Amino acid sequence: MATTLDWYGCATFSLRTAGLTIFLDAYIDRPAGAQGTGLTASDITEADYVLVGHSHFDHLWGAERIIANTDATLIASYESVRVMEQAGVPLDRMICVAGGETIELSPDVKVSVYPSQHSCVWSHAQMEEPDVVCIGDLGVTWQEQQSRMADLMSYLMTDTTSAVRSHLVDSSPGHSDRGDGGALLYLIEGPDGSVLFQDTSGRYDGILGQIRPDVAILAAAGRGNIDGEPIQGSLAQFMAQQVELLDPQKVLFGHHDDWLPGFSIPVNTDPIIEEIRRVNQTVEVLEPGYLEGTEILP
Ligand SMILES: [Zn+2]
Repeated sequence: MATTLDWYGCATFSLRTAGLTIFLDAYIDRPAGAQGTGLTASDITEADYVLVGHSHFDHLWGAERIIANTDATLIASYESVRVMEQAGVPLDRMICVAGGETIELSPDVKVSVYPSQHSCVWSHAQMEEPDVVCIGDLGVTWQEQQSRMADLMSYLMTDTTSAVRSHLVDSSPGHSDRGDGGALLYLIEGPDGSVLFQDTSGRYDGILGQIRPDVAILAAAGRGNIDGEPIQGSLAQFMAQQVELLDPQKVLFGHHDDWLPGFSIPVNTDPIIEEIRRVNQTVEVLEPGYLEGTEILP
């Protein structure tokens, strides 16, 4: 049986491998006017596990309904588990991780968790196209980042459509303002091969350089974060560096559709693929649309 992947928009996927259905992130609902599948998390009736990369609503929100409607177990950071406990998810349906754990999902499938970094979301209002080179913003303190995040939130709550604003309110039940909760990477290994899941454009170079997945799902949005500092260059260059570090056979992108108009953009992936080709001529780049059930491992 092959391993297939369905994209639900933003960084949310459903991976089917060795008899398991594994959600990678859980964000499925969208505001009116946004790109997406037209589904909500309430429509999901089949899941064994939900792996969530970090605690922001556009990754975590929806897990509470997927877990309520299925037998799925959530694997996520301590902060994500805290938020989901407030949303009513029973603690015995959740596993807290911080990086370093390997969890058996079935006798044939395991997942290893790695600590990672969030994109430098504080450094911009709207996202830039991936070939735009951004320089500077080095050594910005936590306090300054918090103040820029507050500016971003007030922009989002004033300069976006009313549909987006009410979506931002709806999506944050139980969310206090405690940030991303720490970003995580997941390496899922099964009989067909291995799949790496990243849901925000950040990394620790030393960690990524140690992982050799067959398939890499890489977030393609925002300002890349390398070991805590924003990339001095473009998102396309950031992505190509990751392909160099991981050396996968196949790459797929996530987080690159227009999921929150006014903040997101429909990312043009051509410059990303161009940069990837400079460092790796053989890696296969797959760009499925929504819910196409793409075979990623034979
Ligand atoms: Zn985020």
